Amino acid sequence: MRDAARLGVRKPLLARWLAPAGPAEGRRVTRAGADVLAVPGRYCVTYILVAPGGLGIVDAGSQADVPLILEAIEWLGRSPGDVRWVMPSHLHFDHVMGLDALARRLGAPIALGTVAHATVTGGRAPRFPAWPYLWRAVPTWPMQGMPFPPREDWREGLDFGFPWGRNRFRAPLLPPIAHGAPLPGFPGWRLWDGPGHADDAILLHHEEAGFLVCGDTVRNFFGGEWNPLLCDRVDERLTRALIRSLHVTAIFPGHGPIVEGSGVVERLRRLPPWMP
Ligand SMILES: [Zn+2]
Repeated sequence: MRDAARLGVRKPLLARWLAPAGPAEGRRVTRAGADVLAVPGRYCVTYILVAPGGLGIVDAGSQADVPLILEAIEWLGRSPGDVRWVMPSHLHFDHVMGLDALARRLGAPIALGTVAHATVTGGRAPRFPAWPYLWRAVPTWPMQGMPFPPREDWREGLDFGFPWGRNRFRAPLLPPIAHGAPLPGFPGWRLWDGPGHADDAILLHHEEAGFLVCGDTVRNFFGGEWNPLLCDRVDERLTRALIRSLHVTAIFPGHGPIVEGSGVVERLRRLPPWMP
């Protein structure tokens, strides 16, 4: 829906210059009972799953994104009380620093897959991509417009999604959602574990529409590519095989615009080692 572009979404100049795919867009995509609104935030893209019975929100990278997400809910003609849960695609700071603040503002619980739930309740920090991969994250920061954390994120958010963070969510947690389980209240959607970039990464998939909300497993800086930043190469290979086995017509990546079209998974690039 064209009008979604009117949400107060920033289009950072650097991202427009540097990322070949361009910045993420505020966009609503609907097909075969699936309905997703993309809301580009300060670091990552927030996705709002829309169902007759409520809304589900995936990722909130910064506390500065909270007003924009509230605006998006209003734009959908819904109210904050319609939000059934808020969920991180994985527990990395650029996807979770605003999550607890958003959940508490909405009065919504936090939904997690089994690995993230064990991490959060066990007080363990998430594993980060190993050093040989980590340099590749540096050039991608200017491709996102060089976002600097605002004061709100420093104040308490740095507990979330960093190697030293304990991810102490103050909003209530729902029971963990198992690998392959339907998303309660969202007909047609299932959660799949998708480790590789992060141990706790999850994928949300709508079989009939072929929609895949995939966090950082796929990025779109260069037209749609498998994320080369990895925690675990073996897990990532299995996750790629899982995604190839699914019906996918549109990929909603953690960073960059939505990737669509026939053979969308086959068209995803594997970047050579010298590319970020
Ligand atoms: Zn990310």
